[in-house]
Amino acid sequence: MIEENLKEVKKNIEEAAKKAGRDPEEVTLIAVSKTKPVEMLQEAYDLGCRHFGENKVQELTAKIDALPGNIHWHMIGHLQTNKVKYIVGKVDLIHSVDTFHLAQAINREAQKKDCVQDILIEINVAGEESKFGTSDRSANLELIRSVFSLSNINICGLMTIAPYTENAEDNRIYFKELRRIAREDAAPYLPEHPVLSMGMTGDYAVAIEEGATCVRVGTGIFGERNYAI
Ligand SMILES: *Cc1c(COP(=O)(O)O)cnc(C)c1O
Repeated sequence: MIEENLKEVKKNIEEAAKKAGRDPEEVTLIAVSKTKPVEMLQEAYDLGCRHFGENKVQELTAKIDALPGNIHWHMIGHLQTNKVKYIVGKVDLIHSVDTFHLAQAINREAQKKDCVQDILIEINVAGEESKFGTSDRSANLELIRSVFSLSNINICGLMTIAPYTENAEDNRIYFKELRRIAREDAAPYLPEHPVLSMGMTGDYAVAIEEGATCVRVGTGIFGERNYAI
């Protein structure tokens, strides 16, 4: 099942990139493996996957220990400051930095370990209408600016989680908005080609058309998740 799913996802990525006049190589596919057993991750690895995303610290560290060392690990879930110590220096990219408090904890841990941690700032572009207003815009920018000043954190770009929808087109405005923030407001604090982590199983093609450089696909690769077990 994983083999066919992966082929399908890769084909869709290629088509979406071509449609937007982009090189499919610019898009990193992150296999979101949360709740799935190590055997399924190994299968995806054997089929060529090298980027995996998890959303729980304990599950993530257990899987890091159980799987090959050349995997790029992505922390995509909400992160508590008291758990930062378990993943700093172990994961390639923390996608979910949404407060200065959390960024400071990551920075302190990175200083302790004498490393620089790559992160993304998570932005809630899909909040209520008011979130598009100036006050939240400036709050986002203030967060980016303050995190930028931390010595042992490298802001690689931005991440957003769009709402669940039956119609992927509904989310196009949010993907556009994230790219706009990266290119305009936040540009002074980001690399020239920032990472844009956006798009999940239901809407990754639209996200790629709007400039995603990282798509986070779980169900589309591994099938439905069963949280009951
Ligand atoms: C679970 C999850 C995904 C993957 O969701 P699917 O709809 O299964 O592709 C992507 N991003 C985040 C932040 C997630 O928590």
